[in-house]
Amino acid sequence: MAHKLSGKEHRRIERWAKKGELNHLFSFFADQRQTLNVDKPLLIGSQGEEDVFVQGFVPIRKILQKFHYLDSTYNRNTTFRRVYGTQKRSDEERSRLAPSIEGAIHRHFITSFPRLCFLEKVTPCSGRIIHAHAIQEAQLRVYAKDGKVYFPNPRAERSEGLTDFKLLGVNRATTFTGFCTGHDNSIFRPIETVPFIGNPEQVFLYHYRALCKDYYVRLVSKSFFKKMITEFERLNLADQVNYIRNLDAMNELDLSEINMGKPWLDESIKTQSYGALSGCWMRGSGVPGVLATTNLFPPRDLLGRPIPNRKSSRLENWISLTITIESGLPLVLIAGPKTSALLQQLLESIRDTPQVQLSAALCRFALAYSEHFVIIPKWWEGLEKGARRAARLTFNSRYYSDYFKGPFDWTFEKPVFF
Ligand SMILES: [Zn+2]
Repeated sequence: MAHKLSGKEHRRIERWAKKGELNHLFSFFADQRQTLNVDKPLLIGSQGEEDVFVQGFVPIRKILQKFHYLDSTYNRNTTFRRVYGTQKRSDEERSRLAPSIEGAIHRHFITSFPRLCFLEKVTPCSGRIIHAHAIQEAQLRVYAKDGKVYFPNPRAERSEGLTDFKLLGVNRATTFTGFCTGHDNSIFRPIETVPFIGNPEQVFLYHYRALCKDYYVRLVSKSFFKKMITEFERLNLADQVNYIRNLDAMNELDLSEINMGKPWLDESIKTQSYGALSGCWMRGSGVPGVLATTNLFPPRDLLGRPIPNRKSSRLENWISLTITIESGLPLVLIAGPKTSALLQQLLESIRDTPQVQLSAALCRFALAYSEHFVIIPKWWEGLEKGARRAARLTFNSRYYSDYFKGPFDWTFEKPVFF
C-alpha cells in the first residue's frame, strides 16, 4: 500500500522546499501513514551544494530522516542534485528475499557483540568480561515494568511508517560487554556507590562511561556491517551492499576518531587527573521519562538553533550526555573538553532555556540526538496516542519540530556549571 503523490501535492511541497519552510514540509510528511509513491523527482530542500530529491516508493521514515541534514535556509545556488529513492520489487521477489534478509539480520546482529575490556591497557586487567551497565541497574529496576523498559531497537517493529520502541529486559537494554569485572567494580565505584556531588572525578567517570558505551556500539556495528555485506553479496543485492558499505565507511571514520581521542581520556584515569572537562549538571524531582547515556554531535542546540561547523573538528567536540536517576532523583550531566565550541554553544542554550522548560527541552533533545536511551514505561504508557506518535516522529526524524510537547512529570533545578 502506498499513497500516490498528486500533481498538486508535488507542486506544494516543492514550493515549501524552495522557501525553506521546513516546518510545513515536516508536517506534511509527518501526517502521512504509509509509503509515498513519487513518480518524478520531488525536491525537499538543499544540503550544502546539493539539491535533495526523493523519488520512487519512499517510506515516510526515510523522508523524515533527511530533515536532520536539510539546510534551514534553502540554497538557491546548488551545483549538484541527489535523488533518494527505491525501486519497488515485485511481490514474488519480495516474498523470496524477505525471509533471507530478515534471517541474516537477526543471525548476524546477535552474534556481533564483542567481549573486551576498554581499560585493558590502562591499569592491570582481570580479563573476566562482564555485562556492565551503562545506566545504574538498581535505580532502573525500581522504575521498570516486570523488569522491562522501552528501548529503541534497530529491529523494533514499525507501525504507521515509523520505528517504534520495544519493551526489553533491563539487562538487555543497557548492558554492554566492554569492561572486565575488576575494572567495572573499581573504576566506577565513585559513581556507583558514592552519592553524586559533582566532583571532577564523578563528572569524568560519567563522561568516560558514555563514550565507552558509544565506542562499544560502533565496534558492534563494524562487525555487523562486515557480515551483512558478505551476506547481501551472496544474495546479489547490489543496492543493499552499497547502502551498508556507506554506513560501514562512516562508522570506520568515527572509530578512527575515537581511537585517536581515547588515549587522552585513558591517561586521565591512569594519573587520576580529572580537571580537563567542562559542562553542567542539574538535579531535580520526579522520574525522567527518558534516560540516556550517550556521545553527542547534535546539529542543533537545546533551543533548536543550528550549530555551525560541528563536524570540522570532531575530536575536540566529544560531548557526552547522561540523564539518569541517582539516589532516587534525576541527574543530568553534559560534559566535554573545555576547548569544545560545540559544548560552549550547548551550555549557552541551557543558560537561555527558561527553567520551567528544561524538562521538555532535554527530553526532546535526548529523543532526537541521543544514540542510546531507554524510556520509563510508566511515563510512556501514560502518554496519549498523539503524544507517543510525536515522540516517535522526533526520534525517527532527528528533526527538532515542535510536535512533541509532553507532558513531562519531572522538573529540574537551576543548572550548575563547571
Ligand atoms: Zn579490565
